[in-house]
Amino acid sequence: MAPSILSDANRRLEKALKYVTISDDASERLRYPKASLTVSIPVRMDNGTLRVFQGYRVRYDDTRGPTKGGIRFHPSVTLDEVQSLAFWMTFKCAALNLPLGGAKGGVTVNPKELSMFELERLSRGYIDAIANFIGPDVDVPAPDVYTNPMIMGWMMDQYSIIRRKLSPAVITGKPLSMGGSQGRDTATGTGAFYVLQALMARFGKAPELTTVAVQGFGNAGSVVARHLFDAGYKVVAVSDSQGGVYAPQGLDIPSIQQFKTSTRSLKAVYCEGTVCNSVQDHSILTNEELLTLNVDILIPAALENQITAENADDIQAKYIFEVANGPITSEADDILATKGIYVFPDILVNAGGVTVSYFEWVQNRSGLYWSLEDVNNRLKSMIVTEAESIWDIAQNLSISPRTAAYVHALERLGDALNAKGTRDYYVSGI
Ligand code: NAD
Repeated sequence: MAPSILSDANRRLEKALKYVTISDDASERLRYPKASLTVSIPVRMDNGTLRVFQGYRVRYDDTRGPTKGGIRFHPSVTLDEVQSLAFWMTFKCAALNLPLGGAKGGVTVNPKELSMFELERLSRGYIDAIANFIGPDVDVPAPDVYTNPMIMGWMMDQYSIIRRKLSPAVITGKPLSMGGSQGRDTATGTGAFYVLQALMARFGKAPELTTVAVQGFGNAGSVVARHLFDAGYKVVAVSDSQGGVYAPQGLDIPSIQQFKTSTRSLKAVYCEGTVCNSVQDHSILTNEELLTLNVDILIPAALENQITAENADDIQAKYIFEVANGPITSEADDILATKGIYVFPDILVNAGGVTVSYFEWVQNRSGLYWSLEDVNNRLKSMIVTEAESIWDIAQNLSISPRTAAYVHALERLGDALNAKGTRDYYVSGI
């Protein structure tokens, strides 16, 4: 059975706590979510029956600002999972120095079984149920697994109806026409590329001599693969849920993107005319094979728990950049460390998404909208600064980049929590 995400997250927190001098008060506060809401959402189905869905919203910590985190529509959503993901968001926002806390939301539902009308009623019903728990200065949701800009648009509209005023800053990841930001759709992959480029420069290996395998060719994975291809890296393998393709001389990523967009599957890449011609001498491989390829860089960009104690020993990549959330278990982390593999963690590598969500919120509040170039320049400057600080912490303390990212976040969270008053104030006086 896969380990629980929360226990894994806590293991990593405990590791990092050894390297920071935050007060006991602050570390104690960070072990518990600030507030958790469970709601029932009645939805009138197309056939006239009524179904009631369970929904959740958790605000983990808001010491550094309003809380931020996505809304997941998935059959396996539980309060425990939502709390763990909210914990993660708290550390991600602090690691990136965003003036935001961490939150998460979800509804236990298989959205693929709903009609579009039912999905809209569920999305609006969820906002009806949590409206008093969220708000532009309180908690700002965003998309996550199986939610998208259209759903964010419905949710923003519903909140605005309830408040009787247009409230675009209540939610991010909206369509551009409803106050969304330029660059939000590509932000995670673009941010991951900026981090990778900055850190690989420290290792002094030329892009054209660097081979890369990407697991998951979706929103995040395909964007990072494209940036790497454009920058001259040799992307030798990519995969999706159907399987993968491998070409030691490098894949033609733009053609694969084009085929994926028109067919929704990488399968077409293997067998249909022009792309096969452009990917000479390619071979088909499974996702398990992709993970263990002899490449310089491995990018898991699909699901959680992909590298576990079972397959960690077979990993041959020298550097792993976690674009997916939680693709490596903490047990596997220990095995990879003994093999000398550098793992750059999700809370840094995929933070481009929440960073541009933050930009969207800023733009909604100011009413001044930025160009794509502006968005990408600001993203690059923020994420590269934090990536370099995290790398320096890892070097100075001789710890993994993951523990360094938690240390970096904990120092900021600790400072903010201490500033509210700790036991030391009462003991030592002002
Ligand atoms: P997506 O649904 O667009 O893409 C997921 C891709 O993974 C798809 O191509 C799918 O076919 C593939 N996939 C599914 N199962 C697979 C398997 N067993 N092996 C290989 N590939 C498989 O999702 P996304 O938005 O790109 O998110 C991917 C990961 O990145 C998730 O872990 C998500 O939490 C994380 N992430 C995404 C964002 C974002 O803004 N999109 C932000 C932060 C983190």
